[in-house]
Amino acid sequence: MSFPLPDLPYADTALEPHMSKATFDLHHGKHHRAYATKLEELVVDTPYADMTLEQVVRKSYADYKKGDPKATAIFNNAAQHLNHSFFWTCMTPGGSKPSAAFVEAIDKEFGSFGKFKEAFVAAGVGQFGSGWVWLVDNKGKLEIVKTGNAETPVATGLKPLIVADVWEHAYYVDYQNRRPDYLKVFTDNLADWAAASERFAG
Ligand code: MN
Repeated sequence: MSFPLPDLPYADTALEPHMSKATFDLHHGKHHRAYATKLEELVVDTPYADMTLEQVVRKSYADYKKGDPKATAIFNNAAQHLNHSFFWTCMTPGGSKPSAAFVEAIDKEFGSFGKFKEAFVAAGVGQFGSGWVWLVDNKGKLEIVKTGNAETPVATGLKPLIVADVWEHAYYVDYQNRRPDYLKVFTDNLADWAAASERFAG
């Protein structure tokens, strides 16, 4: 396979009680796997088959914005594959601490780390329907961005530092309709802020 499903970077029980094995069985084992499998089918005998996943996302996004109907399905599955692969790496058991330099940059942009987390949660809650909430590095400026469905800042050249999935399948098993609770737990107990700090520095 050109675009295999990545293993989780921790055991599927490692984020309990905040994110359950039942959620991972469904979210990684079924939803993410389905995007990866569908992408493999769609790229057979196309130029996309020889590209990296990021290249597929950027090219199919450009083609689908130009009105190519075949590119839409490829973009949706490729972007969901990429977004989920990144999302798993944005969490770590117990969460982690941001670097001093990252905290300084956050303070400068948002006032404090606490205010940033509130704004991140509010943006995720404010994403109507399915989508994602991101912290991105836009040429050195930190920005909170929300995207609908499969849309991803990778397609438009922004550098993602962290993402939370706000599709219902990401939280319904553990939090039912309480998206704000899920996002607060994500920012306080799951987010790998050390990894985000490294991406910001890199
Ligand atoms: Mn998802």
